Amino acid sequence: MARHAIGVDFGGTKVLAAVVNVENGKVVGTGKKRTSAGDGPDNLMKRIYATCDAALNDAGLSIEDVEGIGVGIAGQVDAERGLLIGTANLSRSVVDLPMAERITERYGVPAQIRNDVQIAAVGELSFGAGKGIDDFVCIFVGTGIGGAIIQHGALVKGYTGNAGELGHTTVDIEGRICGCGGRGHLESYASRTAITAALLGELRRGHKSILSELLPDVDPAAPGGTAIRSGILSKAVKSKDDVAVQIVTSAATYLGYGLASIINFQNPQRIILGGGVIEAVDLLFETADRVARREAFPYAGERVEIVRAALGDNSGVVGAAVIAAAT
Ligand SMILES: [Zn+2]
Repeated sequence: MARHAIGVDFGGTKVLAAVVNVENGKVVGTGKKRTSAGDGPDNLMKRIYATCDAALNDAGLSIEDVEGIGVGIAGQVDAERGLLIGTANLSRSVVDLPMAERITERYGVPAQIRNDVQIAAVGELSFGAGKGIDDFVCIFVGTGIGGAIIQHGALVKGYTGNAGELGHTTVDIEGRICGCGGRGHLESYASRTAITAALLGELRRGHKSILSELLPDVDPAAPGGTAIRSGILSKAVKSKDDVAVQIVTSAATYLGYGLASIINFQNPQRIILGGGVIEAVDLLFETADRVARREAFPYAGERVEIVRAALGDNSGVVGAAVIAAAT
């Protein structure tokens, strides 16, 4: 029988679990739940269990059929101790949660915890846009902006596990306060949350936009900048809506400067951009690509390949499963 593991991707708006065939990267069963910023540690763990159970059920497998469970979560993680140290974009009441231990207690299989973009990078390295590439950087634009570095074919964790956090590098020292508490960080300007906040602000100020017509589909209270879905934003940009084009161009310009910093600092062969808004909105991807090449060292900027993630929504769960099976 093929080898399987469960991968869990715990993001700012949803938690997705998948049973993955770790030999070919195919997802054979999934479970999905929304996340809630109000969750304490017990509820957070319950959401993980519920999605794992659903994924196993969907795959028609039992826990004895999987080699382990890997979890990626949007937060600071101590991979060695299997600990979630804290999370800026999820519940603030969750600190030093021994996630790996809790999962092993419940399921009796080994568990691994990583940062959510690190698992996505491993997914892309194993079966996606990073396959066969030894030096690349993954940047995911969503509720926040996450990043991960693959060097010499392996994930760069950094001394305390935080390597690659491009979203929390400073683009304006007198700028906006970031979700992490820092100031002027890139994700306060270029994340989906930042784009959504800017769009809703313009609409409230009374600026004419096709988005107002699409407003029945907009829920301003939705978490993590999901009030305006990527598909709607893409539609507005394609119809050359002034407000949408300007705001996306501004966010993409900030993102492009961030990518230029990566190119100069890390000199990767490839940069893989992921996240629903990157997938859906061409203007965001293309502007960031152009600005990055313009602002980086000329030779490095010319040579770097900037591509979209190949596994879409599944890069995280696939990577988490690969890590779980490898350890
Ligand atoms: Zn920050």
